[in-house]
Amino acid sequence: MNADQAQVPSNQTGSVVVVGAGVAGWRAARDLRNAGFAGSVTVVGDEAPYDRPPLSKQYLAGEFDDARISLYRGEEPGSIDVTVREARVASVRSGVVTLADGETIEADAIIVATGSTARRPAMLEGHDVHTLRTREDSQALRAAIADAGSLLVLGGGFIGAEVAATARTAGLEVTIVELQPQLLGAALGDACGERVERVHREHGVELVTGVGVDRLEDRDGATVAVLTDGRELTADVVVAGFGASLNLTVFDGAGLDLSNGVVCDASGRVAGLDGVFAVGDIAAWHDPVLDRPVRREHWQVAGEQASFVARTIAGTVDETTKRNPPYFWSDQYDVKVQVFGRPELADRAGWLEEDGVDPESVWAYHRGDALVGVVTFGIPRLLGAYRPRVTEGLATVTAS
Ligand SMILES: Cc1cc2nc3c(=O)[nH]c(=O)nc-3n(C[C@H](O)[C@H](O)[C@H](O)COP(=O)(O)OP(=O)(O)OC[C@H]3O[C@@H](n4cnc5c(N)ncnc54)[C@H](O)[C@@H]3O)c2cc1C
Repeated sequence: MNADQAQVPSNQTGSVVVVGAGVAGWRAARDLRNAGFAGSVTVVGDEAPYDRPPLSKQYLAGEFDDARISLYRGEEPGSIDVTVREARVASVRSGVVTLADGETIEADAIIVATGSTARRPAMLEGHDVHTLRTREDSQALRAAIADAGSLLVLGGGFIGAEVAATARTAGLEVTIVELQPQLLGAALGDACGERVERVHREHGVELVTGVGVDRLEDRDGATVAVLTDGRELTADVVVAGFGASLNLTVFDGAGLDLSNGVVCDASGRVAGLDGVFAVGDIAAWHDPVLDRPVRREHWQVAGEQASFVARTIAGTVDETTKRNPPYFWSDQYDVKVQVFGRPELADRAGWLEEDGVDPESVWAYHRGDALVGVVTFGIPRLLGAYRPRVTEGLATVTAS
């Protein structure tokens, strides 16, 4: 043991229950062991752990199979002494997890990672419209597009845009309807949205933007989307990417503010429930710069929060522990869109013009002179060059 490790207080025994077996849940369990935690670790999830990002990309395209999207990646629970139970959790309170069948499991610490569910607004009910969140959703969509000539995508967010790209690559005629003026505009801003739109247009996708879906109708076995401007669109297969609703029922009746996820301190401790942590899509961790809870729905953030909480419980985290800036990506055709840093802290943004970089490849966010975030298009190898610059820029902002 080196001197640094010796200074970190150690808390390596006791029991931990993880609720939810997505990327955040499984990573929390695995990293408890990686951090040397020797107590009992139980993961309770209502499905086996698998990765979601390929569900709109390689798994949907049939390029990845079930083994390839398993989160275990060869490290089975038994090999690291983790118990995984397939069950639904009804409630979480300090020290106790109650399963849907009434069984209770006591724990010294509980990590909640219940994620989200695809939003299905009432408008979709009774219509043959796909949504995409689970492996089964992806399998059903894959089977549907295999026999189809056309796809209508309602909602041009990340998942809608990725499904459109996958289906177009498979040869379908694809139309996307998006309420905002640009695809991904709400997430990335108009200029980046336009950049993504160009890629879709170049691939022959029809974009209908700035128009909402008023209602769906069934006509002769086809689903017809009636838009708010009166236009009517239909296709062999219809998929809606209308966002996700958070799975927070385990906190029902606990008296928490659940208006935008579960409110946590800056280390993931749930406010109002001692010994309970929240990680991943549901978790709104306190942001010291903005002085408010911030929630993100990204794979990397979910894993890093889980790892941080695992190490906190194991006692191997202290105030010097480094935390990575947020990162997420999206793959559309052969273009990888990567977002690194904290665009929300910027006071200006624009295309970066630098030697060796194609025009409109790097959208940069500055706060004063500090580079606080970038969105890159189709230059995955170059992102590495921006990471240290953004990390340094953020350090000056967060320290001020
Ligand atoms: C199609 C798709 C593509 C994506 N692509 C990208 C991408 O390219 N890049 C990126 O950064 N992010 C992407 N994401 C987002 C990323 O996958 C999520 O941010 C991540 O999965 C969040 O992990 P999580 O563990 O918090 O939640 P989840 O992955 O939702 O896992 C939560 C688990 O908990 C279970 N659960 C819920 N309630 C209970 C209960 N009461 N009892 C027991 N179990 C319960 C759920 O069934 C689920 O298995 C994508 C998401 C989807 C759906």
